Amino acid sequence: MTQNLKPGLYIIATPIGNLGDISWRAARILEQVDVIAAEDTRVTAKLLRHLGLKKPMLAYHDHNAELVRPALLTRIAQGAVALVSDAGTPLISDPGYKLVRDTRAAGHQVITIPGPCAAVAALSVAGLPTDRFLFAGFLPNRAGARATAIAELAAVEATLVFYESAPRLVAMLDALRAELGDREAVVARELTKIHEEVVPGRLSDLIAHFTTRPPKGEIVVIVAPDDETPVLSDSEIDTALREALHSLSPAQAAAQVARNTGVNRKSLYARALALKA
Ligand code: SAM
Repeated sequence: MTQNLKPGLYIIATPIGNLGDISWRAARILEQVDVIAAEDTRVTAKLLRHLGLKKPMLAYHDHNAELVRPALLTRIAQGAVALVSDAGTPLISDPGYKLVRDTRAAGHQVITIPGPCAAVAALSVAGLPTDRFLFAGFLPNRAGARATAIAELAAVEATLVFYESAPRLVAMLDALRAELGDREAVVARELTKIHEEVVPGRLSDLIAHFTTRPPKGEIVVIVAPDDETPVLSDSEIDTALREALHSLSPAQAAAQVARNTGVNRKSLYARALALKA
């Protein structure tokens, strides 16, 4: 039975690598809940072992959520249920939002036990503007959908935060450079782990770096807002575009000038069409 904990759903952030990052409160609540809903019970079992705890667990992940949620809501009505993901804060690129929504709609309490989150950890060491940021999570895998998703973000005047896997990093950085220009960025890898690495640079620098040193592990990519890139006058942009248009189509010229100057490709394309006409 619950010891001193009121019934409800406890959203518990867990470490993103270093198990020492579990908060004192998270450990106490994990000790007291009746059951833990975990994204992968094997991963959470490791954390529980580290804390010296044994607890009933059930799996709650993208593939069984619809099936498991009704039974979970019944348990939440009667006792204290924890939701944890494999790492970091549940619901942040992880399952849980429908469970939170339905728990509250059913009149039960949802309590947060905040803690590690890879996006926030990366922002805290990136050295890029943090007054305004947009968390974009994982981009689509397919090149076309990825380019469209990035193009939609081009006009956003905020630092952009992405999650990415190591094998896709270079292709993703390439796509970012093509759509956003050669902005300042940071790759934050394996945060809080032995091989933690924070690599700053223009997107082109990062492409070169990770092409020669293929990365491993877990990665956050942070891209500075557009005005971090050098500002060119309209006539300088026109000169660059005119030169490129000697040998390239408007689309190719816009892409080339975007790469070289960091100016947004879409606006360059419109200008290239006008110059060509
Ligand atoms: N809910 C988690 C959070 O709060 O950060 C994120 C879960 S998402 C499924 C996993 C992604 O987060 C990884 O693919 C990687 O992009 C990022 N990530 C998780 N741990 C990380 C770490 N230690 N260093 C860098 N990125 C990490």
